[in-house]
Amino acid sequence: MMNKFLSIRTCLLLLLLWMTTSIQAQTLLVPDRVFDGEGMHSDWVVAVVENKIVYSGPENGLKRANSYTRINLDGTTLMPGIIEGHSHVLLHPYNETEWNDQVLKESPTERAIRGVVHAKNSLMAGVTTMRDLGSEGAGYTDVYLKKTIDDGIIPGPRLLVAGPAIVATGAYGPKGFHDGVTVPLGAVPVSGRDEAIKEVRTQMGNGANLIKIYVDYRWGKGEPSQPTFLQEEIDAMVATATTAGRYVVAHAGTVEGMRRAIMGGVETIEHGDGGTAEIFALMKEKNVALCPTLAAGDATEQYKGWKKGTEPDTDRIIQKKKSFKLALESGVDIVFGGDVGVFPHGENYREMELMVEYGMEPIKVLQAATSVNARVLHLEGLGTLQNGFLADIIAVEGDPSQNIKQMEKVRFVMKDGVIYKND
Ligand SMILES: [Zn+2]
Repeated sequence: MMNKFLSIRTCLLLLLLWMTTSIQAQTLLVPDRVFDGEGMHSDWVVAVVENKIVYSGPENGLKRANSYTRINLDGTTLMPGIIEGHSHVLLHPYNETEWNDQVLKESPTERAIRGVVHAKNSLMAGVTTMRDLGSEGAGYTDVYLKKTIDDGIIPGPRLLVAGPAIVATGAYGPKGFHDGVTVPLGAVPVSGRDEAIKEVRTQMGNGANLIKIYVDYRWGKGEPSQPTFLQEEIDAMVATATTAGRYVVAHAGTVEGMRRAIMGGVETIEHGDGGTAEIFALMKEKNVALCPTLAAGDATEQYKGWKKGTEPDTDRIIQKKKSFKLALESGVDIVFGGDVGVFPHGENYREMELMVEYGMEPIKVLQAATSVNARVLHLEGLGTLQNGFLADIIAVEGDPSQNIKQMEKVRFVMKDGVIYKND
């Protein structure tokens, strides 16, 4: 009797299981080829159930393939959603409004509204995750933007946010006012161990996923960058963040700034324009990644009047090409991150095109924007199209490993199993 009862119950459970699985969203994505985060595969398909990838491989290896809703993506390459490593969702291009005026004249409310548009543009361009490195005077607006995206109020990428970021007292702008004028700054200034520790804790407490510090900056207008924080200040901020399971990233362009940041234990160096073979070797040794932000320099030089293509490279571009080449030769992890916001949100592809132009293989660029960024940015379950991973998936026209400019043509965007674009 007991056995019979159990078997009926088992049957009912199986029936219930079958009913629930059959009403789950099951999608089969059928492109020309799949870039899974590592390499390119012809005639692969990717199956998605709810918000998870359940299969990635040749179609004949998928069981019950006809139970899925098929989406044909002819002429495309399917790949993991782009992970942008360095954005400012609360900034817009400096040739529209100078950085100083954005910080001084645009309220956090206006900047939030602009941020809503930027978040949507990013997602539609295939960016399903963004590491946002500083609100640049807009306080914790990035935290609130992230919340509204996570709550499904507005469309946008998954955000990792830094909050206001931290600078050394006197080192950051806007500048040029007499000392009686109180000026809102682009980041929070601190001096000394105690203030530095307190500010890291405050920012984490207010929702920062990571801490951004500026270890060098130009102290006066037109001057070259010089180190800002003392080693003990950097050490204290890193120790405070890592104690809480967070990490620190450093804006750094000088050799000494980079050296202090690396020795202090930051995880990524942002920009690294003045990097030498020796400093990149130290980064490699200490497992610190470089986020080169090539597109920011390329954009700002053009804002200053450089006519790219018709005029020779400026000194800054020559130096950037040189240091990026040294970084590639050193074997450091290269994070894909363009400092988008300096140039229009949704044009994240600019960084990829420049990475190729400056000497990186297209397939390596695609890896940087997906699996490498997922690893370096601690994004478990993202960046690769494999079983059990989250369904952040895009399709671009053609084959971007042959022509990186194809990254401009994003036809399909799925984030967390939800389709946002299917042109
Ligand atoms: Zn930046």
